Amino acid sequence: MTAPSTGCSDVVRAVRIDPDRERRKLLKAYHRAHEEVSAAWRARGYGYPPPTFPEYPDELRGLICGAKTRAGTPCKRTDLWENGRCKFHGGLSGGHERFSAEGEAKPMRGY
Ligand SMILES: [Zn+2]
Repeated sequence: MTAPSTGCSDVVRAVRIDPDRERRKLLKAYHRAHEEVSAAWRARGYGYPPPTFPEYPDELRGLICGAKTRAGTPCKRTDLWENGRCKFHGGLSGGHERFSAEGEAKPMRGY
């Protein structure tokens, strides 16, 4: 399917921009901070006392996946993974972040 040549490419582009982009970035930052605390706790053998995890930001409550579905509507799922998408829209794979230098062994953990 080709886009109609109405000269409204700016409008088409504006629709594609994720309205929750900033919140999704915040979600990733939250997961990174959480992982740092967990890694420090793991390093000391999950000893007592347990660490204080960062609080889940209130503005992230109700954040939806927002991926474009086959019906053309935004996905409404709220069970998001670290990358801010649901399990159907790229959530299960952490993308390149999971395969970065420090996360290289992560997918094989548990085997
Ligand atoms: Zn989704």
